[in-house]
Amino acid sequence: MRDENCIFCKIANGEIPSTTVYEDDDFRVILDLSPASKGHALILPKEHYANLYELPDEAASKVLIVAKNVVAKMTKALGCDGYNLVQNNGEAAGQTVFHFHMHLIPRYKEDQVGL
Ligand code: 5GP
Ligand code: ZN
Repeated sequence: MRDENCIFCKIANGEIPSTTVYEDDDFRVILDLSPASKGHALILPKEHYANLYELPDEAASKVLIVAKNVVAKMTKALGCDGYNLVQNNGEAAGQTVFHFHMHLIPRYKEDQVGL
């Protein structure tokens, strides 16, 4: 299912161009428009789910596998020193785009990223 008013549906399905660092049949991983650190990426399912609670179990399991593999590759490419995986659900938790996504935030020694 897609939501025609959802920007992440359009990005995930290639209707709006993005800097893509990984893609398969179910997910696209893009660079964040306002990165918290160099290489900040977002995992987007191609189907529209507003948040974690709506994500089917199969997709939820696959998100972590995609995260693991992308983080491993990007750690080598970026030379970062660590990683935060962050996933916001609901306005009170800081969610601003209501299409499930997981943040992959590279960390560098002595960076000033506040999460
Ligand atoms: P949230 O606050 O919902 O967890 O995160 C939304 C993220 O999406 C933010 O980090 C924001 O910078 C990013 N974002 C919002 N709109 C766009 C867009 O059009 N393109 C990309 N690449 N990132 C976006
Ligand atoms: Zn969507």
